[in-house]
Amino acid sequence: MNYENTAAYATKMDAQDPLRSYRERFHLPMQKDGTPYIYLCGNSLGLQPKTTRQYIEQELLDWEKLGVEGHFHARNPWMPYHEFLTQAMANVVGAKPEEVVVMNTLSVNLHLMMVSFYQPDNQRFKILIESDAFPSDRYAVESQIRFHGYDVQEALLEIRPRKEEELVRMEDLEVLLEREGDKIALIMLGGVNYYTGQAFDFKKITELGHAYGCKVGFDLAHAAGNLDLQLHDSGMDFAVWCTYKYLNSGPGSLGGCFVHQQHACADLPRFAGWWGHNKNTRFNMRHNFDPMPGAEGWQLSNPPILSLAAIRASLDIFEEVGMKKLNEKSRNLTSYLEFLLENINNKNIRIITPRDTTQRGCQLSIQVKNADKSLFENITEKGVIADWREPDVIRVAPVPLYNSYMDVWRFVEVLKECLD
Ligand SMILES: *Cc1c(COP(=O)(O)O)cnc(C)c1O
Repeated sequence: MNYENTAAYATKMDAQDPLRSYRERFHLPMQKDGTPYIYLCGNSLGLQPKTTRQYIEQELLDWEKLGVEGHFHARNPWMPYHEFLTQAMANVVGAKPEEVVVMNTLSVNLHLMMVSFYQPDNQRFKILIESDAFPSDRYAVESQIRFHGYDVQEALLEIRPRKEEELVRMEDLEVLLEREGDKIALIMLGGVNYYTGQAFDFKKITELGHAYGCKVGFDLAHAAGNLDLQLHDSGMDFAVWCTYKYLNSGPGSLGGCFVHQQHACADLPRFAGWWGHNKNTRFNMRHNFDPMPGAEGWQLSNPPILSLAAIRASLDIFEEVGMKKLNEKSRNLTSYLEFLLENINNKNIRIITPRDTTQRGCQLSIQVKNADKSLFENITEKGVIADWREPDVIRVAPVPLYNSYMDVWRFVEVLKECLD
């Protein structure tokens, strides 16, 4: 692409963007003067689709009119409501429908998956994570290690970028596995690192892990709705993600969970609840737990319908667009951002996210030398919502569904002003 650093060029790119009309389908947060913010924070909380209210109101109305009867007689009956999301969610992550379920929240699902896929014994008891894993993931993993009676010092392994580097190298992972593979019970990595924006090669890591007899799972919080995922083909054992980031389902909304087909009927240890029980006999209230095959068998409770309704509103948009077109625009939009940042020609800023577009999603993490949070506060004051991570990184995520080339161009203009 021959990008140009002008407002006219950004305007032209927006006019040619086949997805440009989708921006209109979202509520853009407004500044005090009534102009919308440049919102580049969809990696933290996605924007609200304008249809979300209507999807939720439908369920409020049916509850109002029908009470408990809504479980069977609501327009969208609540009993099987989560099933209405399954195909669309499977499409977003490249899975078979029986491999995915929307339930609980991310950290809860991570625990449930580790109950099933972290089965340590004295030969093989280690868990491999990234040295800069998301704090919640680290807490969850450490607590599982302790729960099984192992010592975190001994059992927690970290893959760390080399000195003076930010990104994990595949060859270092290979060396680590060669050394420790037969002691690793579980490899649990972030699909896209929340800090650096680095995306891993799921298939390669899964094959490598499996070759050493490890189970392999990924936290896809920053990958679901962002990357072109092929979870089934990757062969990974499990994955978890949230839906309030790139999947625009609202704060604290439910998470997604993937269990590979090969485990659909496996007799794995698990924490059970009635919603995971065979739905044909669930209400017989029998004593023996009879899990549904596939990911649904890991459900615990009857799910919050209002939250499912919000996810459904968003997934309907993803169904309409398709991940292919989103990814195409995403690559262009983020490459444009990269081009403009390089054009700033300021030695103090550096993109730490991989330059290879197959190793990243839409997010770029920009390190600003000698900066403190006041730089970021200035940017916010000038109408940009992005994200600051201590000590010196600004994360920006142009989201192909609702961000424009003009958003990207204006953000870089603001950044330039604030750097000067
Ligand atoms: C956002 C995020 C979480 C959040 O977990 P919740 O249980 O939804 O609060 C966890 N892990 C990663 C990597 C995240 O990016």
